[in-house]
Parts: sequence; C-alpha cells; structure tokens
Amino acid sequence: MLGNPEKPGPASLPDRAFTRDRLGRPMRDLRISVMDRCNFRCPYCMPRETFHERYRFLKASQRLSFEEITRVARLCVGLGVRKLRLTGGEPLLRSGLAELVAELSMIEGGEDIALTTNGILLAQHAAELKGNGLHRVTVSLDTLDEAVFERMSGGYGGLHQVLEGITAALEAGLSPVKVNAVVKRGVNDHTVLSLVERFRGTPVIVRLIEYMDVGTRNSWKPEDVVPSAELLRRVRERWPLTPTAGRTQGEVAERYVFDDGAGEIGFISSVTAPFCGDCSRARLSSDGAFYTCLFASQGTDLRSPLRAGASDNDLLALLRGDWSRRVDRYSELRDAGGVVEHPLPKVEMNYIGG
Ligand code: SAM
Ligand code: SF4
Ligand code: SF4
Repeated sequence: MLGNPEKPGPASLPDRAFTRDRLGRPMRDLRISVMDRCNFRCPYCMPRETFHERYRFLKASQRLSFEEITRVARLCVGLGVRKLRLTGGEPLLRSGLAELVAELSMIEGGEDIALTTNGILLAQHAAELKGNGLHRVTVSLDTLDEAVFERMSGGYGGLHQVLEGITAALEAGLSPVKVNAVVKRGVNDHTVLSLVERFRGTPVIVRLIEYMDVGTRNSWKPEDVVPSAELLRRVRERWPLTPTAGRTQGEVAERYVFDDGAGEIGFISSVTAPFCGDCSRARLSSDGAFYTCLFASQGTDLRSPLRAGASDNDLLALLRGDWSRRVDRYSELRDAGGVVEHPLPKVEMNYIGG
C-alpha cells in the first residue's frame, strides 16, 4: 500500500531494475490530469479568449474512469513510479475525487500521493481526501491582492476561499502544504513579498515559479518572465536566506531557509535554470494519453487499448517503450538556443496537468 514501508513490493527493488530513458532518467513521478475543465481562466494557462463558453471540453465518457486511471498508475508504479500527483484543469471539479485517492492508495509500491489545486473547493474536501490516503497538497495562489488575484484568475474572485482551503489542508494534516505562485512581470511581481510574508512562520512553503511557455495559447513572451535570481535577490533584501539541501532527484525547486527560523521558500526556475537533466516526470492526460514531457506535442493513446481489452503486458510494453525512447529536454534546449520549434503544436496544460 502507498506509504506502508512494511509491505514488500516494487519499492524494495534496486533502482537500476526500473525503466530508464535514453538519457538515463528513471520514471519516478506520474502526474495525472483528472479533469480538463477549470473554474478559473488564468490567462497564463487557460485564457478566456480560447477557453470560452463554446470551447469543447472532453465529454465525461472521453475522460479516463477512476478504474482506468488506477490501472495505468499501478502499471507505472511497477516501472518505477513512486509519486502520484493529481492535477488538471481543476482536479476538485472531478466528482468523487476522494474515491480515486482511496483506490490509488491501495497500489503496492508507491510512496506518495499529492494534489495540485487552485484551492477554491479545497476546504470542503480536505479532511475526506486525507482520510482516503492523500499525503500532500499544493495550492496555487499567485497573490494576496484581490484585484491582482482577479486578473490572474481570469476574472474570478475567491481569494478568501483559497485561504480557507489552505487552513483546512493544514488542519487535516495534508503536509507539507505548499503554495505555488506563478510570477508574471508587471502583473503580480509587486505583490510577491506580501505573499511570502503572509506564510513566513507557518508550516506553508511558498514556491515562486517562473512563468513558462506552456501550451500554445498564453502568448508567452520572455520579457514577462521574472527570473528566479531577481526574485531571490528581492526576497533576500528583506529576509536573509540560506540555501538548504540541494535539489533531490526529481525535485523542481531550489530551496532556501529563512535565517530567522521562519521556515522555507522555494524557487522554480523552469525557464532560466531548467532541470531536465534529472526530470523523472511522466504525465497522463485527462483523455488517457501518456506524455513524457510537459512540452510534448504528442502522447501515446492508452485509452483505446484500455477500452479494447489490452492486457497488462500490452500496456506495460507501450509505457516501457515510450519511456525508454524518451529524449525530452525542452527547457534545456530553449535555454540553449531560444524558443524550440515544434513540428506540431504543444499540448495544452489543462489536458496534460501542471
Ligand atoms: N488547477 C490547478 C491549479 O491551478 O493548481 C491544477 C492545474 S494547474 C495547470 C497546475 C500548476 O500549473 C499551477 O500551479 C499553475 O500555477 C501552473 N501553471 C499553469 N500555467 C503556467 C505557466 N504558464 N507557467 C508556470 N506555471 C503555470
Ligand atoms: Fe485552472 Fe489551474 Fe490553469 Fe488556473 S492554472 S486556469 S486554476 S488549471
Ligand atoms: Fe521535464 Fe520536459 Fe520540463 Fe524538461 S521540459 S523538466 S524534460 S517536463
């Protein structure tokens, strides 16, 4: 069972037994987009101009069922995955999500189940999710300024509910609770210090994320990115910081502790200091495609074989084959030579999960 160290399972196999990609990277994390819809329209992710009332989201029958998701997750755990993260779109819009958590928590050999959410619906679900086996939650919150919040969410309020969600998550013991803030120049960068201040001295870890060129719809420009080095300098001018243990394998944030003992802060520098070298993340889209990079153009359809009666071995062959052919390092290539030209448009983040 996930989190039960006494049960023997794939976790006890040596690391080298697991599938590695062409660059020697193991598959350690599976991010599962359980829902392509969202109750926000953050312009950096699902801008209103594209995701309007007539936008055709997936029908329920096109999304993987909980049983299908659990099956794929179990097979991926057999190939080395240890961490499962539920994301979207907004995962808490998927009804009965806690039931999925319960099913995932029964998989032998995994270690960790986490959720990334915008937090709007978190207060009402936190205790049940924890009770069913969720370990951790990351809440996306870009600012504490209501007007800026509305702009960053694409016209929605709800700051108060998000803060209540964070409190409920702490009370439920979904720790560590992390707050992810995407920083966009000229939009919310002037509110970063107040966000950091709000959570200093609490168990919540704030992580400041560079705005990325995900998908094809957010009109990303390099000038909109606030480099982590600049954010680090600004935070440090106010509160002295010391780097803490370097990134563990697959860890995305550079971590610092406040010298006055007020906790930890992280910087995620996907644009200015990419971490493809040890990227161990696979993704399962809401319609059942398997992706080996956030910036991929194409995934491998698992839904058709799942629904056509494929055996575990058939599916394992697809997953193993994909991972062992993997050469993705989009962010490093972008860093080395400007924007990477894709032969096909990149998949959108609400399908593939952040
Ligand atoms: N709706 C949930 C949420 O917002 O937490 C889960 C899905 S969302 C796609 C996952 C994460 O991706 C969020 O933390 C969000 O801030 C981040 N994200 C979305 N678009 C981004 C972008 N262009 N650059 C950096 N992070 C982005
Ligand atoms: Fe929705 Fe999350 Fe994307 Fe914002 S970042 S639009 S909350 S999926
Ligand atoms: Fe991993 Fe792709 Fe992001 Fe690089 S660009 S860190 S390979 S998801």
